[in-house]
Order: sequence, then structure tokens, then C-alpha cells
Amino acid sequence: MKAGRGTRGRGAEAAGCAGPHARIDVPTLISADSVSTVSTLPAAIDPTELDLPGLEAALEARGHAPFRGRQIFRWLYRRDVTDFGAMTDLPQPLRAALTADFAVATPRLVQRERSVDGTEKFLFALADGRRIESVFIPDTPAMTFCVSTQVGCAMNCAFCLTAKMGLVRHLTAGEIVGQVRQLAGALGLRDRAFNIVLMGMGEPLHNYDQTMKALRILADRHGLAVPPRRVTLSTVGLVPAIERLAAEPLMPNLAVSLHAASDELRARLVPVGRKYGVQEIVEACRRLPLRHRRRITFEYVLLAGVNDAPSEAVRLARLLNGLRAKVNVIPLNAAPGIPFERPSDEAVDRFARALSEHGATVSVRKSRGRDIRAACGQLLVEGDRPSPAQQLAALLES
Ligand code: SAH
Repeated sequence: MKAGRGTRGRGAEAAGCAGPHARIDVPTLISADSVSTVSTLPAAIDPTELDLPGLEAALEARGHAPFRGRQIFRWLYRRDVTDFGAMTDLPQPLRAALTADFAVATPRLVQRERSVDGTEKFLFALADGRRIESVFIPDTPAMTFCVSTQVGCAMNCAFCLTAKMGLVRHLTAGEIVGQVRQLAGALGLRDRAFNIVLMGMGEPLHNYDQTMKALRILADRHGLAVPPRRVTLSTVGLVPAIERLAAEPLMPNLAVSLHAASDELRARLVPVGRKYGVQEIVEACRRLPLRHRRRITFEYVLLAGVNDAPSEAVRLARLLNGLRAKVNVIPLNAAPGIPFERPSDEAVDRFARALSEHGATVSVRKSRGRDIRAACGQLLVEGDRPSPAQQLAALLES
């Protein structure tokens, strides 16, 4: 996981026209006479799965004043109160109605581990028992929460441990935001500014709608009020989704996991590279509306003897020529089951120097939390029944 460096995007949100954000999520209502048996009772509505317009619509559909949504948001996100009975500025009948019809699911903290470097890894159990991990990186230089967007991942990058889980399922917006609620609460940071990187388990653009809804919930000024400039979305480079992102009013900072400057090499490391070529990805990035000072980050996991030749660095610098870009070189975090090696510090320096000598802005990501397996690409949650790949990884480790 994550950013050895704070994602302090400073640009303003990209202006955009109405995109998918305009959709309002109104839970389906089941009329009273269709409720003939207990099994047809509508499931409780989880307000943390709704953005504010969605919550207002759900309240209105039940005959409540929509403005109550703002109050509920404040209780949920600013005060961490999920018991409607305790929302003391709501009228008593509304509290009772909410208690009957609504219920909040919060990822349950199962384990919290602290690295010698201060990084902390949080293991959560979701309502269906699936598990995910989030990481807190204390000083990069800002406080950063690295959160997951999927249980497992479908992208199958050759050097990533999460890939070994395959995709179990997408996370909901409430589960994505729920990690932030939990970390902010556990770390006492609810009233402080922090950054969020979508660099935990999963490919955020593969779970586009829920990820975008999560960003709207996070940004709401009645809630946690995390502006999109404090959020960095890291993607393997799904071009149509990057294009969709261009029209979002709440556009996060973008990081693209490139790892190679040529299609041949990239396809060996990132299977989806066969579908979207590096040139096509970079062109899509060039078309993104970027305000003054905003940069796109290109992540490059450095693998000894595979993609660490200075000639690759030169090719990469040329590819990014003219783009407001920064290359974040990430020396591999090795793990059992990952068939690559971390390059020597000299090789990392050589690569970074070649990039910068050819005009690229470069940073080298410092590994954080390696001792607790919280570093980039090390997030892997064992289920009840490990997949064959997980079993193999465990075997290799023993
Ligand atoms: N799916 C998204 C985000 C998740 S991973 C993406 O691909 O960007 C976040 C970053 O960690 C990515 O750049 C990913 O390539 C990198 N990463 C994965 N495995 C790693 C490993 N073993 N060592 C170092 N970085 C790794």
C-alpha cells in the first residue's frame, strides 16, 4: 500500500458537467400491502450507503422533512453516532421511525497492528463476514488513510499479493467510507485534516459508481468534509473509466500504475495492459481537465532485472513529455509468492536519476509498514478457505 508521500493535491476540483453524480439513490419502497409475510419486509435502509441527496430523497419518500438528512449526516460523520435514538436534535417520532426503518452497518475492527515506523494496519470484518484492510500512514507529511475499494482484486498484477485473492466482491460506498469513519475515530482524527489514498485492496475504477458515491459522501460539508484534492485515486489504467472521470465534478487526484513504458513489458506485469496500451493511457491523462499546479502521478514498481534499466526510464520520461506528471518510483515490496526481487538501492537511484535527467519529476516511495505487511501490494486477507494461490503463498512462506 501506500504513499510514501502525502497526496497533497492542491488544485481545485475540476469543473464538470452533470455526470453520474447527478443520480440519486432512492431505495426501493415496498408498499404496505405487498408486505404479506416477514420475508418480504423491505430491508433496513443504511444511511451510510447514501449520499446526502439520496438520504434526503429516502426521508422525503417516507414523509419526513428532507433537511433532516443534514442533521443525520452530522451525527453519523462528525460525531460518530449511529444510534438514531441518540440523535437528540431530531424529533422523537422521527428517531423512532428511523430506528424502525434504518440501520447503519459499520466495518467491525478485528485487528489493529502497529509498525515500528508508526504505520498502522486495520483489519475489518464486513457485514457478510468478508475481510478488508486499511492502513494509516502518519507522516507523509500529512496523515494519510489508505483504504480498500474491493475485497480482493481482478486485475492480477504479477507482483501484487492482493491479486492472489482474485476479486471476491466490490465494496459498497458505505463500506469504503466506513473504513474512513473507523480510522478517523480510532485515531482521534475526526476533526483534523487527513488525506485519503484509494490504494488499498482493489481497483477503484473497476468499482466506479460506488467509489464515486463514496467520494461524494466524504466530500459533503455536513459530514467528514474531505475535499477531492485530499483524495488520490490509484488506477491500473482503465481508459474508459479515466475518461468518465474527466466529467466528474468531484475529481480526485489521479495516480496511474504504469510500471512499464512499453506495451510488451507492461502486459507481462499488468494483464489489462493488453487491452489499454501505455500511449492510450497517457493520451487519456492528457485530456483530463487539470487546474493550475495539479499533477498526475505515474506509479512505477521497480522490479530487479525486469523494468529497472535506465533505458526504460528514458523511454518513460519521453512518454510523459509535456504532461504535468510526477513519477513515483516504488521499489518492490517483496513477499513470498511474488516472483520478483526488489532492486538494489543503487539500481533505484540509477533509474530515478535517468528519469530526472530526461526531464521527469521523480519521487521514490519509501516503504512503510513492511514489518506488519502493510506496505504496497502486501494486503492479503485470508478467508475461511484460502484460495489455491493463497495456500501456495503460505506454503512458500513456511
Ligand atoms: N489497483 C490500483 C490500486 C491498488 S495498489 C492500482 O493498481 O493502482 C496501489 C499501488 O501499489 C499500485 O501502484 C500497485 O501497483 C502497487 N503495488 C502492488 N504490489 C506491490 C508490491 N508488491 N510492491 C510495491 N508496490 C506494489
